[in-house]
Amino acid sequence: MKILVVGGAGYIGSHMLKRFQSTNYNIEILDNLSTGFKDNTLGYPFHNCDLADKNHLHSIIQNGKYNLIMHFASYINVEESYINPQKYYENNVTNTENLLNCMVQNKILNFIFSSSAAVYGEPDSIPISEEHTIKPVNPYGQTKAIVEDILKDYDTTYGLKSICLRYFNACGAHLDGSIGEQHNPETHLIPLILQAASGRMENICIYGDDYPTKDGTCIRDYIHVMDIAEAHLLALEFLKEKQISEIFNIGNNEGFSVKELIKIAQEITQKKIKVNVLKRRKGDPAQLIANNKKITHLLNWSAQYSDLKTI
Ligand code: UDP
Repeated sequence: MKILVVGGAGYIGSHMLKRFQSTNYNIEILDNLSTGFKDNTLGYPFHNCDLADKNHLHSIIQNGKYNLIMHFASYINVEESYINPQKYYENNVTNTENLLNCMVQNKILNFIFSSSAAVYGEPDSIPISEEHTIKPVNPYGQTKAIVEDILKDYDTTYGLKSICLRYFNACGAHLDGSIGEQHNPETHLIPLILQAASGRMENICIYGDDYPTKDGTCIRDYIHVMDIAEAHLLALEFLKEKQISEIFNIGNNEGFSVKELIKIAQEITQKKIKVNVLKRRKGDPAQLIANNKKITHLLNWSAQYSDLKTI
């Protein structure tokens, strides 16, 4: 089976490639290297292509004769999505549409999409199941919700079968230490806490301690990137066998507050971490915790690396 990994040079895509190394799938990568790193692509055949370049995209997909496409390439920074929504809608929606249209034209009808817990917005109940209402509160989440809607219509009309994986908070690095989270600028909590612990940053800023949570800071469900990669592999096997579209949360069913994470990081690193409390960041829901029953039952997935010590 031949698979194109779009965004394979990025954080989650490159961990997926590591997981593919011990399988027999025939893998190729497409990436524009806007945020990813060619060094992380493990020597797999690589297409340097921007999804906005329809002609180039079309020729790669036509020649590739892929059976399935995994799509990891998107912008992910909530704050930036407010400042520059055009960038987010163009890349995360329009470029994804280009990809889907090429797929349909070339009769590639199996797709795995990196969605996000951001589609739920400020949830009405915790833990959040896949049936929860979709009501994103920021442009980033909106782009993911739009693609999920497009996928429903493309299934009905073109028979394109997809699995949408709604990631909660992706984190961690490959256990061999060869790759990990490498965003520039880094905006994610765990790498920033570790930068503060190691002295690369003076302190960690807490964005708001007046949320309606146990200690006033936001609660998130942190899920190891290799557990996410495993979920993709299981989703791929499910799609191959069943040929039905589905949506799954990928989360750990457990939440930690920002303050709890800092405390645990201090215990693990044995370093004092200085804290600076700032006002809330725009677009942050107070609490996001996954109900992961569906993925556990239907895909037989379970988190292996998502305890905070391993992360
Ligand atoms: N956060 C924080 N300080 C930081 C970065 C993040 O307090 O320097 C908080 C943020 O407000 C959110 C949580 O940590 O509640 C996780 O944020 P992150 O950006 O890692 O992921 P997100 O939940 O936005 O996808």
